[in-house]
Parts: sequence; structure tokens; C-alpha cells
Amino acid sequence: MSETIFSKIIRKEISADIVYEDDISLAFKDINPQAPVHILLIPKKPIVNLNEGTEEDKTLFGHLLLIVQKVAREVGLDNGYRVVINNGNDGGQTVNHLHLHILGKRQMTWPPG
Ligand code: 5GP
Repeated sequence: MSETIFSKIIRKEISADIVYEDDISLAFKDINPQAPVHILLIPKKPIVNLNEGTEEDKTLFGHLLLIVQKVAREVGLDNGYRVVINNGNDGGQTVNHLHLHILGKRQMTWPPG
């Protein structure tokens, strides 16, 4: 895959407001927040999107969901939150590095736009 802005954030070449980091994932505040809390959680492995995941990524994908839970707790999303993965063009994905949006501290509506 080609380099994205998120690769530069992982390498700390571009600053971001990091809220969580471990060996295989990184969470930071979205630069254009769509809710009072809007965090992006990404794998450090440069996977484009869900379509690129393989059997080899099973543990990584599971890890990301458990880190969502941890980050949400740490930032106080006690009343619930929304997790979004925009996947490909029709999904509205603009950065080609898999990322989970964690949105909270406002009432979400359904269906999404
Ligand atoms: P997508 O539309 O691909 O699902 O989401 C990409 C997200 O990345 C958007 O919400 C956008 O605001 C965020 N984003 C894009 N560039 C940067 C950046 O340089 N820093 C941060 N923190 N967020 C970014």
C-alpha cells in the first residue's frame, strides 16, 4: 500500500494527540472531531481496510476491539459510544490505513448518513 498520513503519525513525524499506544496499535484524537470525543484507533501494521485483512490478522483485529473498550473506559465514555469503520469508497473511507473511529459524549442517531 502507499504511504498515508497515519504512517507518519505512527513514526511520530507528524504530531497527533495520542491517547493510547502499544506495540501493535495507536489511538489519537481526530483532527476534525465529529463528536465531543472522537478518537481514531489504528493498527501499526499498514492494512488498507477490512478487505485487506487475512487469517494472519485475526489476533490483531481482536486486539483492536479490546483496545476500543480500554480507550473508551479511560476517556470516560461510560454512557456508551459509537465505533465506526469506513471501508472503501462507498463506505466513505478517506485515509487508506485501517482505522476505527470511537465517537462519544453526544447522542448518536441512526441511520448514519
Ligand atoms: P475516514 O474518512 O477515512 O474514515 O477517516 C479519516 C479520519 O482521519 C477523518 O475523520 C479525519 O478527520 C482524520 N484525519 C485525517 N488526517 C488527519 C491527521 O493528520 N491527524 C489526525 N489526528 N486525524 C486526521
